[in-house]
Amino acid sequence: MSVQSRLDEYYDVVIIGAGPVGGYLGWSMRKLGHSVLIIEEHSEIGRPFQCAGLVNPGAMERVPMEDTVLTPIWGARINSPNGTTVDIGSPERVRTWSVCRKKFDEGVVRLAVESGANIILNSKPTNIVIEDNFAELSVDVNGTIMQVRCALVCGCDGAHSWVRREMKMGRPKEMMIGYQVEVTGYNGSEGQLDMFTGNDIAPGFFAWAIPSGETTRIGMWSRADLLSGKSCEMLVDNLMNSSIWKSRFEHCNIIGRFGGPVPSGLLKYPLGERVALFGDASGACKPTTGGGIGTGFDQVDLLAPKLSAYMNNDTLGKEKMKALVKNLEPLRKKLNRARALRDAFLTEASDEELERVFMVWSRPEVTKIINESGEIDNPIPLGIRLLKEVPEFRSLATKAASAIIWS
Ligand SMILES: Cc1cc2nc3c(=O)[nH]c(=O)nc-3n(C[C@H](O)[C@H](O)[C@H](O)COP(=O)(O)OP(=O)(O)OC[C@H]3O[C@@H](n4cnc5c(N)ncnc54)[C@H](O)[C@@H]3O)c2cc1C
Repeated sequence: MSVQSRLDEYYDVVIIGAGPVGGYLGWSMRKLGHSVLIIEEHSEIGRPFQCAGLVNPGAMERVPMEDTVLTPIWGARINSPNGTTVDIGSPERVRTWSVCRKKFDEGVVRLAVESGANIILNSKPTNIVIEDNFAELSVDVNGTIMQVRCALVCGCDGAHSWVRREMKMGRPKEMMIGYQVEVTGYNGSEGQLDMFTGNDIAPGFFAWAIPSGETTRIGMWSRADLLSGKSCEMLVDNLMNSSIWKSRFEHCNIIGRFGGPVPSGLLKYPLGERVALFGDASGACKPTTGGGIGTGFDQVDLLAPKLSAYMNNDTLGKEKMKALVKNLEPLRKKLNRARALRDAFLTEASDEELERVFMVWSRPEVTKIINESGEIDNPIPLGIRLLKEVPEFRSLATKAASAIIWS
């Protein structure tokens, strides 16, 4: 990958952040014929690592990154607070991919650079000035401040986005916290991930054990207001030492610890005059799984062609950019609906209520429905089937539990 140490005076697009979404956006903008500069504050791509490493098929189809796969995941063992397990999926059909996230991020950013984007590492913006005909960035490049002009600044700079804060673009609706350990010796099942629920291990959300080649990633996520003063680390310890599950963890050796925020709830206006936010910077993580790569790619696909046309016509003013937000409405609606389902089914359910849902799920005819209609990218058909065909789920109204599993 060719890394620059000097800047041209002008680029069509300057992207802050060389994560997967910044890389995918850079590649997309190059394919649309624009000059691109990517600015990354770290000295390497894909570090620090803060991810369970699941990339769903919809995202994988868009980038040729199959060689970063550590384990194809075809199924899940979903575990209730008291130990009822529901097995879903079958080996014939891969539902999601567990990848090496460093290699994945590097690979996506390489696509941008090999298609002609410039990249500088160890660099970050210190100021943005929006003028009528261009935006001007001051950039700290290895300690030297340089100026660069562009038509459009794109903030792909993650959950704590500097661009979002600098341009006062608001805050994502929810900021969850994720924490995980990487272990050897987990007693799992090949090709299946484990999901654990219960107030003692992941209040309002869930914990996971995800096979990742030679190792397993064990983690949980929740919201600060639900943690009752406990740290995520304590909750992962609770899981690994719980009387119900400890036999799965007794030979585990922890080789790494990671944590980070999961911003969810698209900003009202992720687009402003000559500025656009994508991915975590805009609050694009799925409320049901915390996955942010797929929705970040979706945003790029929805907006890049329009932004390209606006650049070509030099119409990146405030009103036009605000109007462009309507292109994100279907995605926003989908994410909001998923959050409502998650709240009703999981986040606001007591352990006793969850236990009752698991009893229904574990019935063979219901598990069969989940297997037939569960889709990672579109949980709605399964939700509708469950509501129609399982009498108990009618009383659970629109809780459509399936959204939690494969959305
Ligand atoms: C514990 C945990 C598990 C997760 N598991 C999954 C999962 O299994 N699947 C999934 O899809 N998602 C998962 N996520 C979410 C996922 O990691 C993010 O949604 C995804 O990384 C978002 O990509 P991004 O490119 O928007 O931002 P990031 O990956 O955060 O990349 C932002 C980049 O910008 C750089 N940057 C930041 N600020 C600046 C600055 N001022 N100047 C220059 N560069 C800057 C950063 O160094 C980084 O390289 C998980 C998150 C957590 C915390």
